[in-house]
Amino acid sequence: MRLLIMGPQGVGKGTQAAQLSEHYSIPAISTGDIFRYNLKNKTELGKEAGAYIEKGELVPDELTNRIVEDRLAKDDAKNGWILDGYPRNASQVEALDTILAKLGTPLDAVVALDAERGILLERMKKRAQIEGRSDDTPDVIAKRLDVYEKETAPLLKAYEERGVLVTVNGVGDISEIAHSIFDKLDAKTA
Ligand code: AMP
Repeated sequence: MRLLIMGPQGVGKGTQAAQLSEHYSIPAISTGDIFRYNLKNKTELGKEAGAYIEKGELVPDELTNRIVEDRLAKDDAKNGWILDGYPRNASQVEALDTILAKLGTPLDAVVALDAERGILLERMKKRAQIEGRSDDTPDVIAKRLDVYEKETAPLLKAYEERGVLVTVNGVGDISEIAHSIFDKLDAKTA
């Protein structure tokens, strides 16, 4: 199973990616996590990406596309994967299409999680207290949601037109949301 999970910051993509990872025995790959790991370990990639992340802006496509291409070529991604936080703009959609065409592994489905902005802001405030992410400050959160609305949300329409989109309400019990995703995916990919 090769999946994307999309939706605004705070909607629970990481949580549901973990559920999908376990259910389908596929790795969950988060570009945000890869960047944060590199930031923490002060790698070259971390240094290049850091300034963008701190401001809530997108890291340049060239850098981001390269890490996704490298990650999808790894052995553990041979039988499928779930990508969380990528693609985030139209040019990344194109880059992913090219990567997948090269690998000969088409996308099975795109899961879109949905929630109102008020709920997202509340959840991110809580996450900031628990995780202490440096990009979970009020200004940066607002910026990231704006970038999502402008650059990422329009991509859902493109995937809908391709017939691969399933949309699920991201508010409620974690396991109920997960089962709703599994059911819709089973119906879609049967
Ligand atoms: P996330 O944890 O997915 O919200 O990502 C945290 C930050 O990492 C984002 O605000 C961006 O600065 C950067 N980032 C993650 N994924 C991407 C992507 N696909 N393209 C560009 N920047 C990204």
